[in-house]
Amino acid sequence: MGEHTGVLTERLPSLADYYELTDKDLFAKTVPFSKFIAELRQRGEFAYRRTLTCPNQNRVTVQDPLTGTVHELVMMASNNYLGLTNHPKVVEAGLKAMREFGVGAGSVPLLGGTQVIHRRLEERLAQFKDCEDAVVFSSGYGSNIGCLMALLRRGDTAINDRLNHASIIDGCRMSGAQVRAFRHNDMANLAQILVQGDAEPGGKLVIVDGVFSMDGDIAPLPAILELARRYGAKVMIDEAHATGVLGATGRGTPEHFGVEGQIDIVAGTLSKALGAVGGFVASTREVVEYIRFYGRSYMFSTNTAPAVAAALIAALDVIEDEPWLRQALWDNIRYTTATLRGLGFDLGRTETAIIPVLVDDDAKVLRMNKRMHEEGVFLNPVAFPAVPKRKARLRLSLMATHTREDLDRTIEALAKVGREFGVIG
Ligand code: PMP
Repeated sequence: MGEHTGVLTERLPSLADYYELTDKDLFAKTVPFSKFIAELRQRGEFAYRRTLTCPNQNRVTVQDPLTGTVHELVMMASNNYLGLTNHPKVVEAGLKAMREFGVGAGSVPLLGGTQVIHRRLEERLAQFKDCEDAVVFSSGYGSNIGCLMALLRRGDTAINDRLNHASIIDGCRMSGAQVRAFRHNDMANLAQILVQGDAEPGGKLVIVDGVFSMDGDIAPLPAILELARRYGAKVMIDEAHATGVLGATGRGTPEHFGVEGQIDIVAGTLSKALGAVGGFVASTREVVEYIRFYGRSYMFSTNTAPAVAAALIAALDVIEDEPWLRQALWDNIRYTTATLRGLGFDLGRTETAIIPVLVDDDAKVLRMNKRMHEEGVFLNPVAFPAVPKRKARLRLSLMATHTREDLDRTIEALAKVGREFGVIG
């Protein structure tokens, strides 16, 4: 396997290189981009849109795009943390609702598209998140954008952790508010920004991911709350990767830190541990009502499919009724992180189900991912610009439904490939 070893220093093109290409012909930039993708494909390093012929679960069958043949892989690139995408009770609830309410909601929620199942889901979510009310969007991306555009105005300030998710950054930009960023989880830097903005007349909103999507670490919520209160700022938390995972009963980061009911805005996605699709924002009755009317991605978009709403209610029930799923996930997290660290891998700051295996070299991470696929493991390679330069990584996402055999197969493959590429000794 000598051909794989050695540090590759050449700067590979990345997605960022095909963005700022202006030409009189609007489509001109798509030509070099296509060539870039074709080259990746030719080298067998194209890791996008690999196609599953089964539910997204611990073992998946993946179709080869050239031959059509199907291979079984251990799935380590799914956000289906608790295995609810095809949990029998969740699927059954969806099927029953589809028969009862039809396939689509038929209209936007404020006009003709609210069915009793949508109201039930919002009430259930508000209760689960210990907030007065909740509003459901058709995606998590849409809920962050809708919430931020509804609440922030020119003259207000959005204060982001630098590693916040793209949907938060986009929502802040689209709102027209002033956008500031503090160094990742750096409370002294957050305090500086709050002090600097103290005299400004507009409102301030501090926004963090509860669990960060590339590193798997947790925002220090009590310290953030304390600082925000001191300077009159509100706090919004994105619970995409924390819902169902963190806290004694899976209610997320506020439960993990014992500050439930104290967060001004709790947002999140319904497409990860809850297994379906959609997003939500939970807050006071007044704030939620305001977002319903000024959150454009809610107001102008057809309501969630009723089957999805029903499946989500069932998923919340399963999270409460089957705590062993979360326990199994945490057993898997502890086993995998300890074993990989023992082998000498650098897993950064992870504390949750997202495990980055740091590789430092963008070219290497794509080649390692190709080898991992050959070894029967489906991973996410992440390189610049999604993460900073020299912070490339293979990202593992663990699930409650991974068996010890799945984990061992992944660990053995990583050890083999890690040695081939000199990532571990
Ligand atoms: N926030 C975070 C932190 C995420 O990781 C994601 C998912 N990629 C989203 C929001 C968007 O959620 P969705 O996939 O439901 O649109």
